[in-house]
Amino acid sequence: MAAKIIDGKSLAAKFKEDTKKEIEQLKERYKVVPVLTAIQVGENPASRVYVKSQKKSCEEVGINYQLHELPEATSDEELLRFVEKLNTDDKVTGIILEMPLPQKINARLVQMAITPTKDVEGMNPSNMGMLVYGNPRLAPCTALAAMELLKSTGVDIKGKEVTVVGHSEIVGKPITLFLLSSVLESATPTVCHIATRDLASHTRNAEILIVAVGKAGLIKGDMIKDGAIIIDVGINRVPVLDEKGNPVVDSEGKRTMKIVGDVVFEEGVEKASYITPVPGGVGPLTVVMLLRNTVTAYKWQMEKKK
Ligand code: NAP
Repeated sequence: MAAKIIDGKSLAAKFKEDTKKEIEQLKERYKVVPVLTAIQVGENPASRVYVKSQKKSCEEVGINYQLHELPEATSDEELLRFVEKLNTDDKVTGIILEMPLPQKINARLVQMAITPTKDVEGMNPSNMGMLVYGNPRLAPCTALAAMELLKSTGVDIKGKEVTVVGHSEIVGKPITLFLLSSVLESATPTVCHIATRDLASHTRNAEILIVAVGKAGLIKGDMIKDGAIIIDVGINRVPVLDEKGNPVVDSEGKRTMKIVGDVVFEEGVEKASYITPVPGGVGPLTVVMLLRNTVTAYKWQMEKKK
């Protein structure tokens, strides 16, 4: 039987509406507008698209979004000084560092410098530490999105065999910590990575399979347990192929591209009980988790001021 599709877009729309209402009430109470400040260093077309969508989403829910564009030549020291200025600016309630940064910048150092109460990406070691303690405050948005999609199925995750493929700091590791963060919900996670010897043996054992690698076609149908729940975090741009397997090109001879996840969707949908589509699964919800984190950061600061 074909899997149920977990609709990230409609869940995102609902959460966005809830966030908007909450912001209206909070503004009424505190008489202060939440301000998300984004820092972009240098030119990057991909980041530009992301920034535009962040701005639009923020404005839709009543968050004031401010973009600071710094030159490509900005040094670590200059960027750290800039972050410190925002840390101490009472009007700024959230700070986001747009990726990718120029290679010479030490991204981790800068992320660590963002004060925990304004760290809307949940990357500061203090916020990561709270996740380890099982008491998350601000956590990475994509990990939050994956967990919300999983919870939206209503399936009890307690004790379940979960395989997480990929262990990055922004996705795989925090997801694993979330899976362990509550005694009530604690699953039994297995984490796979590049050095995992027999990936399929772990994915086949998974009642819940969460994939965050960035390799199209990594997870095929024969690697999936019957009835598994699949959360596909991967985003990959691949060429569209015609019936003969040749790339489709446009009138200018350019390849037509499409976005796919890490799971072969047509095969996953035949084996799983639930599956997230790509696009339309984790992506739309990740943006909304950024809005929610911005609200959490704002409330945290308003409480501190009391
Ligand atoms: P990343 O930092 O490159 O991490 C990829 C992880 O996959 C690493 O832990 C790596 O292991 C592991 N890996 C690589 N090849 C593997 C293989 N053959 N088998 C098993 N594990 C393997 O990427 P990321 O930032 O976590 O992102 C992962 C994917 O999610 C990307 O496609 C990205 O675009 C997508 N993403 C989506 C959203 C969203 O909003 N939907 C947000 C963020 C990321 P090692 O470290 O051991 O090499």
